[in-house]
Amino acid sequence: MRPMIAGNWKMNGLLAQLVEIETIAVACAASPPQADCLICPPATLLALAARLAAGRIAIGAQTCDAGISGAYTGDISANMCRNAGASAVILGHSERRRFHGETNEQVSTKVRAAWAAGLLAIVCIGETERQRVEGRTRTVLDDQMDGSLPDGLTAQTTVVAHEPLWSIGTGLTPEPAEIEAVHARIRQALVARFGDEGLSVNILYGGSVTPDNARDILQLANVDGALVGGASLDAIAFEAILRSA
Ligand code: PEP
Repeated sequence: MRPMIAGNWKMNGLLAQLVEIETIAVACAASPPQADCLICPPATLLALAARLAAGRIAIGAQTCDAGISGAYTGDISANMCRNAGASAVILGHSERRRFHGETNEQVSTKVRAAWAAGLLAIVCIGETERQRVEGRTRTVLDDQMDGSLPDGLTAQTTVVAHEPLWSIGTGLTPEPAEIEAVHARIRQALVARFGDEGLSVNILYGGSVTPDNARDILQLANVDGALVGGASLDAIAFEAILRSA
C-alpha cells in the first residue's frame, strides 16, 4: 500500500513558517515522493497553507469539533477545516486526550464528523510507559480502537496512528521487533472488526521519527507511514523522512 508521511506541527507555526510548507510542496512537485505527504499546521494557518500547497501536498487539521455549527465558542467544525482547504484531520492525539480530556467516545464522534465533511480521519492510539512495562499495551490499544473507531470505517476514510506516549518528543523509540509486534496486533484487530477493509488501512508509527531512524522504521511490517511531530517543522528534515518511505 502507498505509505503516508504526516507532519503534526502542534501549537507551532506563525506566518513566517509557511515557507517550510512551500518548500516541501515545490520539492514534491519537482520530484514526486513514493509516499503521500500531509502537513497539519495549526488552524490559524490552514487556509494559507492549503493555498500555498496548491494540491502538491495535502494539508490537514490537528483536531476538529464533532458539531456542525452553532454556539460553541472557540471550536472549529470538520466542515470548516474542509472549507479552509484541509483534506484530513488528526483525531485523538494523546495530547488532546491528556490535556483536553478527550475520551474514546468523543474521538469516535469526531471521526464520524470528519467523514461526513469528507476529511480523512487520522486516529491516534498509544500506550504509556507504565502500561507498557505492566504488559498492558495490547489491551490499552484494543480498548482505544474499540472505542475510537466507528463502525463503517474504510481504508479510504481512516488511518490509524500508533504513537507510544513515552516515545513522543523524547528521542526514544521502541525496538523494531516491538513496533512490528504491536503493529501486527493493530492489523489483526482491524481485520477482526472490519474484515478485508482492515487489511488496507494505513497504520502509521509516531514518536521521535527523524531522518536518522525513518528508513529503519518505515521498512518494518505493518508500518505504512509515519506521523512526525518535531521533525516536521523543518522542511529539510521532513523531506528526508518523506524520501525514506
Ligand atoms: C506526535 O506528537 O505526533 C509526534 C510523533 O511527535 P514527535 O515526532 O516530536 O515525537
